[in-house]
Amino acid sequence: MDYLAGLNPQQRAAVENTEGPAMIVAGAGSGKTRVITYRVAHLIEKGVDPFNILVLTFTNKAAKGMRERIIKVIGAEAKNIWMGTFHSVFAKILRVEAQKIGYPSNFTIYDTDDSKSLIRSILREMQLDDKLYNANFVYNRISAAKNNLISHVEYQQSAEIQAEDVSNKRPLIGTIYETYTKRCFKAGAMDFDDLLFKTNVLLKDHIDVLNKYQQKFRYLMVDEYQDTNFSQYTIVKKLAAAYLNICVVGDDAQSIYGFRGANIQNILNFEKDYPDLNVYKLEQNYRSTQNIVEVANSIIANNKNQLKKNVFSDNESGDRIKVQRAFTDNEEGKLVAEAIVQERTSKGYDHKDFAILYRTNAQSRAMEEALRKLNVPYKIYGGLSFYQRKEIKDLIAYFRLTFNPGDEEAIKRVINYPKRGLGDTTVDKIIVAADQHDITMWDVVCDPQKYIPGRIASQLNDFAMLIKSFMAEAKKLDAYETALYIAQHSGILKELHTDDSIEGRSRYENISELLNGIKEFAEREDIEDRSLATFMQDVALLTNDDRQDDKEKDTVSLMTIHSAKGLEFKNVFVVGLEENLFPSQMSLNSRSDLEEERRLFYVAITRAEKKLTLTYATSRYRWGNLTTCEPSRFINEINAKYLELEVAKSAMSSLGENSFSDERRSWSQQRDAFSKPKPASASTANSATPAQRPKTTSILPKAHVPTPGFAPDAASAFQNGMEVEHEKFGFGKIVNLEGNLPDVKATVFFQGLGNKQLLLKFAKLRIV
Ligand code: ATP
Ligand code: MG
Repeated sequence: MDYLAGLNPQQRAAVENTEGPAMIVAGAGSGKTRVITYRVAHLIEKGVDPFNILVLTFTNKAAKGMRERIIKVIGAEAKNIWMGTFHSVFAKILRVEAQKIGYPSNFTIYDTDDSKSLIRSILREMQLDDKLYNANFVYNRISAAKNNLISHVEYQQSAEIQAEDVSNKRPLIGTIYETYTKRCFKAGAMDFDDLLFKTNVLLKDHIDVLNKYQQKFRYLMVDEYQDTNFSQYTIVKKLAAAYLNICVVGDDAQSIYGFRGANIQNILNFEKDYPDLNVYKLEQNYRSTQNIVEVANSIIANNKNQLKKNVFSDNESGDRIKVQRAFTDNEEGKLVAEAIVQERTSKGYDHKDFAILYRTNAQSRAMEEALRKLNVPYKIYGGLSFYQRKEIKDLIAYFRLTFNPGDEEAIKRVINYPKRGLGDTTVDKIIVAADQHDITMWDVVCDPQKYIPGRIASQLNDFAMLIKSFMAEAKKLDAYETALYIAQHSGILKELHTDDSIEGRSRYENISELLNGIKEFAEREDIEDRSLATFMQDVALLTNDDRQDDKEKDTVSLMTIHSAKGLEFKNVFVVGLEENLFPSQMSLNSRSDLEEERRLFYVAITRAEKKLTLTYATSRYRWGNLTTCEPSRFINEINAKYLELEVAKSAMSSLGENSFSDERRSWSQQRDAFSKPKPASASTANSATPAQRPKTTSILPKAHVPTPGFAPDAASAFQNGMEVEHEKFGFGKIVNLEGNLPDVKATVFFQGLGNKQLLLKFAKLRIV
């Protein structure tokens, strides 16, 4: 039981008490994931069959890492644990049980592109304005409904939802949802949300299936529980109902998927659902230096909504947090790349000890360019996945069709690729015919003379013959041979081979890489079913991060903060710390969105073990325009005693004679100048915030020095250009002030709402 020695008393208690419900809500880096890992090892050590354990993680990568560690502790037996993301685990179960809910077991998984493409088809058929009924918007609405377990029937019956859609001027979303559901069903396809939604249906309507999995999964564990949505919460609750051996770990301060329907309430409800719960507190952070932990604590204290936690570190106090300013995004990339080269050589780090984290994928470009110039190897996680590339999706669509010819999105994708004279008009005709006769598109394609007689019938016959030949070959050949046969006979390989442009060649290489991957799969000895159909099953759930190719390579990691959850790196750069980028513009409308953004910042900084660097640019290209940027309010929320400031060389030289300390002084002067007009009654008018907030003595020039306080009787404190918060309208900027005290009228520009005129003595504006 050596492994127990690597745990502190609280962690050890959480590992050893394996029976009954347990919850661990603790700060970042306190060993939550480690507890789950060791708990699983401990269960198996105690004699629990690995087949009876289910562990749900947030990424496949996390599951893989955990499994490897458990194998190290207890050996190969750990291979049999059920472990993975909600989507991958329940896709696997649905494959076994699909027929019970009327689906074929070889159902296709529609990815987001497929779903949106189907929505666009439906919009066209319903002749709706696709600007008003934007496919993204409709998709998100349907997705939100499914994640809240609202079926299309319930959606259409709910007066509340209908009223909401009517007020959004999109009354037909319910109808689109219905058609979308029926079309997916007919095509034998489930979208991502269906994997959870249909699991819920399965467990609700089939008590025998529920019993079976309750008996199977006697021990359940969920990592990153704070980011589960209602649909996931319900599955877990149902499965755990028989044995109540459910252990969840999470951190409310790291809940960053609210925009996708994750519900922090799931943590709070847990105590209500399981009153006999054991709660464990982990307070020691083992990951980061004291400075990093203290900065993280002080940042998150700015959020009103949080569970109180005490997190400390016994590690060294460490370097101060470095803040670097650049003039442009390109210069920012250069600074980061140079810092990596410098730190690596001077301190002997590997490339893999560095991570660059950003708010949006688009920011990777400048970073990549700079790293390439300095020959620093890197890998981008997330972003456009290998499996999302056009050529890969095209070939996979042929595979999909081979195993599930009802797959409507796959047919639409390849019926005329490579070109065979079956254009959009034909596709529309096929869809209409399929709809009229209530059959699939494939049924129409197989008998065109009957459904759409005319000139194109012979091309359609050829296409049907082609797919049928693939089906026949797939029965005889192994995964690789089948894939190669399809790549050759579909005409895709030839099409790409003749394209001699650089892009064409790289597309060809991607196809050959996919085929190589399939070959590896076909040669694996640890799985029984090595058919192409099996390879295909979960391909829609794969991301770049799951690819094996460069697992051992020593590279710098680039990723969004969302994908960095749960990970740790010795050196972390959080880049693009600018207003409207991080926090994002979208988040500025409401306190809860801004708080989610702040939690994201908390996640970012708590990834760092030794050294944390924050960077921002004073100008950046966004949407094709050069925009001027202000440093993020988040930098300003950090107590200056933790910071080390540095200005880019080019910024220095443009300051003429100014030395760094002059620059620093001039910043603090600006700050002082700005923060002067404090509302006179700040301390009395707002009793809630000032006392609770940590004192901010930042020395950065920021328009957002927190001087909290609703100031109804302090109209004189307001000035043009000042940023304010209104209880109802959210954040805005004063663009005009007129009239005399006490009747001063302000025109305030609110994000998304435009200008509003407000009488200051009533408006309860707060200076932010
Ligand atoms: P996050 O909230 O970021 O997911 P976490 O709470 O899951 O963090 P872990 O990733 O489990 O934290 O642990 C953080 C780091 O601390 C890991 O490197 C882990 O190995 C180490 N660690 C955790 N507990 C201990 C311990 N008792 N002794 C030594 N190292 C530990
Ligand atoms: Mg973790």
